[in-house]
Amino acid sequence: MLMKIANKTLAKLLPLYKEISLLGNIQALLGWDLNVNLPPQAAAGRAEQSGYVASKITQLWLSPEFRTLVEQSQTEKDLNQEEQAMVRNLKIGSKFFYNVPKELIIKKEQVTSAAFMVWKQAKEENDFKKFAPNLTKIMEIEKEIASHLGYKTNPYDALLDMYEPELTAKECERLFTGVKKELVPLIKKISKSKEQKKPAGFIGTTQYSLSDQEKLLKFAIGLMGFDMTRGTVSVSPHPFTTQLGQHDIRLTTMYNLTDFRESFTSAMHEAGHGLYEQGVSPEYNHTPLAGGVSLGIHEALSRFWENMVGKNPAFLSYMYPHFIAFYPDQFRMVDESSFIHAFHHIRPSLIRIHADEVTYSLHIILRFEMENALVNGKISVKDAPEAWRAKSKELFGIEPEKDSEGVLQDVHWTYGSIGYFPAYALGNLYGAQFLDTMKKTVKFEKELEKGNLLPIKHWFDKNIHTYGSLYMPAELVKKVTGKELDYTYFTKYLTDKYTSFFSLK
Ligand code: MG
Repeated sequence: MLMKIANKTLAKLLPLYKEISLLGNIQALLGWDLNVNLPPQAAAGRAEQSGYVASKITQLWLSPEFRTLVEQSQTEKDLNQEEQAMVRNLKIGSKFFYNVPKELIIKKEQVTSAAFMVWKQAKEENDFKKFAPNLTKIMEIEKEIASHLGYKTNPYDALLDMYEPELTAKECERLFTGVKKELVPLIKKISKSKEQKKPAGFIGTTQYSLSDQEKLLKFAIGLMGFDMTRGTVSVSPHPFTTQLGQHDIRLTTMYNLTDFRESFTSAMHEAGHGLYEQGVSPEYNHTPLAGGVSLGIHEALSRFWENMVGKNPAFLSYMYPHFIAFYPDQFRMVDESSFIHAFHHIRPSLIRIHADEVTYSLHIILRFEMENALVNGKISVKDAPEAWRAKSKELFGIEPEKDSEGVLQDVHWTYGSIGYFPAYALGNLYGAQFLDTMKKTVKFEKELEKGNLLPIKHWFDKNIHTYGSLYMPAELVKKVTGKELDYTYFTKYLTDKYTSFFSLK
């Protein structure tokens, strides 16, 4: 480690912290392998191995020696900026281990692993009643966890805080009300536009080989500056990114052989996460300053690359000849405009994971409102399907006929990840505000036309990546853009883009 640590308590603490960090890398390797390589009969063995490593991590956090040092660090004076940030991050990181009783953590593990199988079946059979008792238990446990973590008025704040430090339900409500007000009418306008072209003839029927799709997405993430000597790209059913070490960032993607769009933009999304981790200052490795600061900032960067770059008409226009080179036969009848339009099919939809960049945030807002109401007892679990339908109608003008396409669609609640979703929408807001600032020094569209993505990567390296977890999310946004988080950057970005793209009035 090169970073200067003058404080004696932190100097003693960091070697122990490194052990936790190393076990975290091993845990990530087990998880990556589970998703990418695991033979069918190895699931139980892998669960046992992961559980063992997790229990070792918990033991280290709870060991008297480490706990004493963490608690002592909280009272230290005269710390430099990095030391202060480490003390703060240790407080955040230890909150769950030191405040939530061990019995409750074990109970949560048991309840959520049982819930997963029930949810899976309930979704297949479209039978919410089957899952309702499990969801009731999960909500009770989450409320109990919130009471141990502590909050002022809303238990949901304590849960949000675990994923996006210092975020509150009130702040979400303020931002999301603004987003809804702008986007609901915009989506209506876009839906009516005659220039909206449903991609036909070349999506869903024509074959695009896996190996060619792989070459194209590797080309794109190469343009982004993702370092393939410090990372890999593999296949998994749900794309994700994980860090196995400072120089080992694993991206995954999935291929649809009759639709090249998803593997392409989702690889750019995951590479956005990967660039963040590859760009963190090397001296923060294995310290509480390592890694991206929050889910929301991570998602800001990944969604920036996926949407603001990957679905930018100037960039797609640059990519078009490359697609022709790989798919000369398939693209014989596909002109540039149809190709670009295929990435801009905007419509109200029921399923979050297939949502376009305009409607996506509304899917998240729906989940935020549901969670906040469920945790606060404003909606009871038995009424959740109906509440979901009503919100869907309000936001999208359509409602699911089946609960499997409504309240049962996502896996997150079965894990007890209540408070996780809002960071996704927040990421969109952060990203648009970053773009506005970036455009003051980077000739964004001009660079995209030339496929020149490195100036964007370098801007992120300098302004965000390198800091790792040094600044809290809100502090980082202020430092980078000079302003507090403001939702209008995002709604203006979408309104401007689509008003011009579809010649809206
Ligand atoms: Mg992501």
